[in-house]
Amino acid sequence: MTAPYHSIVIGGGHNGLTCAAYLARAGKRVLVLEAADRVGGAAVTRSFAPGFKVSACAHLLHQMPQDIITDLGLIRHGLVFAAEAMPTISLAADGPHLRLPARVNGGLSGEDVTAYSTFMARMRRFAAHLRPMLSRTPPRLGTGTAADNGALLRLAWEIRSLGRTGMRDLLRIIGMNMYDLVEECFASPALRAAVAFDAVLGTNFGPRSPGTVLTFLYRLAAESGACGAAMAQPRGGMGTVSDALAAAAQAAGAEIRVAARVARVAVRDDRAVGVLLADGETIAGRHVISNADPRTTFLNLLGAEHLDTGFVRRIDHFRQRGLTAKVHLALSAAPPFRDLALAGLRSRMIIAPSLSYVETAFNATKYGDYSASPAMEIVVPTASDATMAPAAQHVLSAVVQYAPYSHTDGWSAVKQNFLDRIIETIETYAPGLRGLIIAAELLTPADIETEFGISGGHWHHGELAFDQFFMVRPVPGATQYESPLEGFFLCGAGSHPGGGVMGLGGRNAARQVLKKAA
Ligand SMILES: Cc1cc2nc3c(=O)[nH]c(=O)nc-3n(C[C@H](O)[C@H](O)[C@H](O)COP(=O)(O)OP(=O)(O)OC[C@H]3O[C@@H](n4cnc5c(N)ncnc54)[C@H](O)[C@@H]3O)c2cc1C
Repeated sequence: MTAPYHSIVIGGGHNGLTCAAYLARAGKRVLVLEAADRVGGAAVTRSFAPGFKVSACAHLLHQMPQDIITDLGLIRHGLVFAAEAMPTISLAADGPHLRLPARVNGGLSGEDVTAYSTFMARMRRFAAHLRPMLSRTPPRLGTGTAADNGALLRLAWEIRSLGRTGMRDLLRIIGMNMYDLVEECFASPALRAAVAFDAVLGTNFGPRSPGTVLTFLYRLAAESGACGAAMAQPRGGMGTVSDALAAAAQAAGAEIRVAARVARVAVRDDRAVGVLLADGETIAGRHVISNADPRTTFLNLLGAEHLDTGFVRRIDHFRQRGLTAKVHLALSAAPPFRDLALAGLRSRMIIAPSLSYVETAFNATKYGDYSASPAMEIVVPTASDATMAPAAQHVLSAVVQYAPYSHTDGWSAVKQNFLDRIIETIETYAPGLRGLIIAAELLTPADIETEFGISGGHWHHGELAFDQFFMVRPVPGATQYESPLEGFFLCGAGSHPGGGVMGLGGRNAARQVLKKAA
């Protein structure tokens, strides 16, 4: 094999593309190999019924930092927003809906409106101190290197600069569950649930699960530097973000090949030296960077024979089975949500009427069942973007909590029942919806695994919990975007800082590769 490439990126998900773009901008020769016939991974737009398109997995852009958008010129490369600063509406079956940011309406008392803004200011302050961590390579403990010591000191300083009261407060709440925290803060059941819902979306947690304050702060930290004033909908769906990233990478000189599945990482003399494609082609590269999830990366692409047994056990135990499903409905008219005209549909709607509703929805999954009354995040992309459906027709896209990775009765036996339950649940808030449905699609975590190649189908490529977070993400031995094999790196959601369409894993990994290659 000749060695023409500085780096080969396995996977053209948004993190792989971001990584490639930054490496190419640093003057490196980069090749991206994507198994699917389009780039984007879980950030794509595709059709699901004749004439109807949808963001097939991620549907809202709320965590991509403005500086990545600016650095890579994503607007110049085609990123346009159909909706920005979208409010959240927590749907009520009767009575007024709750709108966030909160104002005195929808049955919220003046006390709760004040409590909400005090609470969010308090949480945003913590998030602002956590935010710099997301853009940095996490330190390793006990190495004694100047870089790791410096990073640990910076981390300690961030926390220290909260002051005595702030530090005490953060330490008190960080290990708590959201259920208890929001009960302390608000009286309105709908407000409690709406806030707690953001802590559990995309996770394997219910509001009572320990560590959910951490997931809430993490989400807020990522949102705090984001473009589009947090919730935004790209025109043409999430695929527009990935296409803009691909265009930026190519403009900087990176090569991208789709329909190019990598079968194995090529190893010689205990270092990665390239890849072997499924069609038998070999391609040489001095660095190989995997955008695939940790299990796929280490057990399928590299192979246990190149790893020690302790490391293989840790990867085997990495928790990466998702509990989040996705539903797409093609509709002959705008969905008839009660008291919401078309303008109201340009928001992010959630079904999370109370804490016990969300917790009960979660309970079912402990016994291998789906939620009979699921919690949901719903958007109607066509309310702001006519390119997604035929004229006057609409698309509804819902992230559904919760669906187990494997159902005790087998998904093929129960999938239609679950879809019916989801539609019935939405109909409680949008009477007459069923009569408008032209086509419906349900993706369980197992379907997400099959379609997007994410082992376990997890939003973050693996649970974001204390034991799989920051300095130990994904597992000891594979932190800092590196791996036990020389020249082999990670850049996907399974590495720090985790999932969500933000590009930070890709950018941080590129920085680490350049540092190692220097
Ligand atoms: C149901 C659901 C809804 C979500 N909603 C949102 C949302 O609204 N907003 C948000 O910000 N986030 C959301 N997320 C999370 C977000 O989509 C992911 O965290 C993010 O897209 C992961 O990006 P990535 O680039 O790290 O990995 P991926 O997007 O998974 O990309 C990995 C790429 O590697 C490729 N690949 C794998 N194996 C190989 C191989 N052998 N050879 C070549 N290529 C390979 C895959 O095909 C894929 O393209 C959602 C996730 C789910 C599951």
